[in-house]
Amino acid sequence: MEKGSSTIYAHTGNGELCYEMNKALTVPETFPLYLSSAYIFDSIEPIDKIIDEGAPGYAYFRLGNPNADATSRILAAGDGAEKGLMFSSGMAAITTALLTVLNPGDHIVASPVIYGEAYYYLQYELKRWGIETTFIDFSTQNPEDYIKPNTKVIYGETIANPLMSVPDIRELADIAHRHNALLYIDNTFATSIIAQPIKLGADLVIYSATKYLGGHDDIVGGAVVGSEKLIKKINFYLGLYGPTLGATESWLLARSLRTLPIRVKAMSQNGLALAKFLESHPKIEKVYYPGLESSPSHVLADKQFEGNGYGGMLSVNIKGGEKEVNTLIKGLKIVRFVPTLAGVGTTLTYPPKASHRDLSAAELKAIGITYGQIRLSSGLEDTEDLLNDFDQALAKV
Ligand code: PLP
Repeated sequence: MEKGSSTIYAHTGNGELCYEMNKALTVPETFPLYLSSAYIFDSIEPIDKIIDEGAPGYAYFRLGNPNADATSRILAAGDGAEKGLMFSSGMAAITTALLTVLNPGDHIVASPVIYGEAYYYLQYELKRWGIETTFIDFSTQNPEDYIKPNTKVIYGETIANPLMSVPDIRELADIAHRHNALLYIDNTFATSIIAQPIKLGADLVIYSATKYLGGHDDIVGGAVVGSEKLIKKINFYLGLYGPTLGATESWLLARSLRTLPIRVKAMSQNGLALAKFLESHPKIEKVYYPGLESSPSHVLADKQFEGNGYGGMLSVNIKGGEKEVNTLIKGLKIVRFVPTLAGVGTTLTYPPKASHRDLSAAELKAIGITYGQIRLSSGLEDTEDLLNDFDQALAKV
């Protein structure tokens, strides 16, 4: 049948070439980027098989796609989890994973030392849906004392934003499971290179992939890893609410993940060097870093992190307040004020005005976030250059 030019341009080389590629004797060495929002069905039969029975194949991008699968597979393997899922941001991963298992009338026990918008979501937004959160200090209060019959989730971070406290994940998991609740752990600051919460008993590990997983400040994404059963449930709501990660971002993330171990290890070394240097500096009041012996989390971090380092994140209290922080920011020549973390360059942020700006002054004070506090994300620079940069900038404070 002769075709008109519009038909030729509309169809040539599309599905037909993909079928040929599937039968080829060689495959691409790198998993390709699949920019297709939907898939061709030869007949009606495969649609039930793929959507309902999990047969190989895809139907519609939002409901599942090859690049998200390829990337989540790397993540799940790295964390020792059965399965993973990609999201359009870390907040999308957090909110979807929580909404999957919560109903009006349910209760959460959480640390208040978590990413500011996650705190806001638990404290204010979930309340609108009749879900209450009790915030406790995991290092001084026993979560078991705050569990209620309707507690469904215990929520915390492996290395908590921004005070770098480390909860006892195995203990939290035991408590959660004794009460038929789930343990959700945001592992964004640690990554699986430092800690693997699934192996310590967590039911779900959550990531802002925007940070270490992406690692180059050019991708916004999120992920969760956990058991096949829980991931399947979350996947249903991912499809329903729709915060699917774009194919290009998934592909870029897979590429970034190839170098995650080497980046995190190098950043940990710079993190420890910066923490030690700043702790001994006369203009600095306090350094929060689990690798320091002065940290109340040090012993637990050693036990849980098993010699993998302590990560690249530290917080620092300068002697003074906002004025002194501003002088430091203006004085630094290499380190930049950027409201994110875990890119290749060392950056700092100011939690009261950035990651935790949704919190009131009273909430910041209760958590321990002060106006003289900066949060640092160590990068891949030569260590001496970083120490010199802080030394010269602190001299101006
Ligand atoms: N979890 C932690 C620990 C974070 O620091 C952030 C963001 O900074 C998030 C989650 C949210 O991630 P995203 O910005 O990708 O939504």
